[in-house]
Amino acid sequence: MKVAKFGGSSLSNASQIKKVASIVQNDKDIKTIVVSAPGKRHDDDVKVTDMLIALYTNKVAGIDTDDALKEIKRYKSISEELSIDPSLLDDFERILSDYLNTIDDNAVLLDALKSRGEDFNARLITAYLNSLGIRAKYVSPEEAGIKVTNTPANARLIPASYDDINKLKDYPEDVLIIPGFYGIADNGNIVTFARGGSDITGAIIARGIGADIYENYTDESHIYAAHPGIIDNPYKIEEITYREMRELAYAGFGIFHDEALEPLYQEKIPVMIRNTNEPHIEGTKIVPERTLDPDIPVIGFSCDEGFTSISLHKYLNKEIGFTRCILQILEDYQISYEHMPSGIDDISIIMRSNQFENNNSLDKIIEEINLQLEPEWIEVEEDLSLLFIVGLGMARQIGIVSRVTAALAAEKVNIRMMNQGSTEYSMMFAIKTEHHKPSIRALFKEFF
Ligand code: ASP
Repeated sequence: MKVAKFGGSSLSNASQIKKVASIVQNDKDIKTIVVSAPGKRHDDDVKVTDMLIALYTNKVAGIDTDDALKEIKRYKSISEELSIDPSLLDDFERILSDYLNTIDDNAVLLDALKSRGEDFNARLITAYLNSLGIRAKYVSPEEAGIKVTNTPANARLIPASYDDINKLKDYPEDVLIIPGFYGIADNGNIVTFARGGSDITGAIIARGIGADIYENYTDESHIYAAHPGIIDNPYKIEEITYREMRELAYAGFGIFHDEALEPLYQEKIPVMIRNTNEPHIEGTKIVPERTLDPDIPVIGFSCDEGFTSISLHKYLNKEIGFTRCILQILEDYQISYEHMPSGIDDISIIMRSNQFENNNSLDKIIEEINLQLEPEWIEVEEDLSLLFIVGLGMARQIGIVSRVTAALAAEKVNIRMMNQGSTEYSMMFAIKTEHHKPSIRALFKEFF
């Protein structure tokens, strides 16, 4: 029994949806599909989710929402091409208008609007599959039992949901269509997962119904050892473990959401990366243990931009509670940190920079640290990237760090900070963002 999740590129227009229908028709093991909102049809296009966010932004800014509402015509052209009953479309515009007129809380409104991209798509795809004679049923996240925390844009599943989700197995239809990206809080609010969160819904459903395989359809057949936008024809990864994938996904391997791995990892449900445009290709498999190439030390490199560090120094710092105090300040400003490399008398805190957009919390945090901890100096760096070298095989081999640092040194890349966990399957280097691409190229040449 399979759960298949189709991403935005797989559902961006009518011809892509036809491909999805044919995948479902040809694979009787696919019992449940989870769908994203229509994505980009070409590089300059706008994703439906971004369009819905623009609708919200206009509303909050007091700008007329009519134009943004008309963008819903994306669904109109899809439904016309698929010859779906047009009355379905009337509801879509009305639902958006209702939300705009009745929801006062901005965070609640934003999540409600954002969720409709997936929801409308799921309804439309269900109608299309039925028109082809497939017994398909739309199941809302509410009906499926996806209960989540009331934390807008950052929903977390309430684990008790799995018992309800399991009941989906008993539905008599051939295939269930579930919109991805959101769940329902206990007060009935729609709450979305982080961006790209339809993968998370897919993983939750796969675990809930005890699927044998979770298939994640995008427009790529494989995960590559490095970003194909930086390296021509990078090494195709055939098999990768959850732990390796988690590290790579964390730092920018957008093909699979890092938060989606947890539910699958717990039940050891393998993930297949599949391409809607090339469904005959068996793509990368994400598994508990690797059988292919178990000894290659490094399986991939990723590098994510957009980090800020605060570094501080205090001579002979023996104060108990020093670190806790820094973390308390971050918590007070609702800032989450990613890494905290330290020396004897200094400590750095690395955070995602986007948390400081549209507010001056960074300045306030610095002020607060100066006031409460009186460091000798404090320094902020705002253009950092984090480079990850990942591979379970590194734990058994000597000299990997020296190969990495030699390759980076040859490119004149200064390593600002470094970190290696005790499991030794991932190393992190903080570098200046201008060194992102040269570093990946140098490492790829060294290891592949
Ligand atoms: N549509 C949502 C987004 O663009 C979720 C998803 O596609 O997974 O983030």
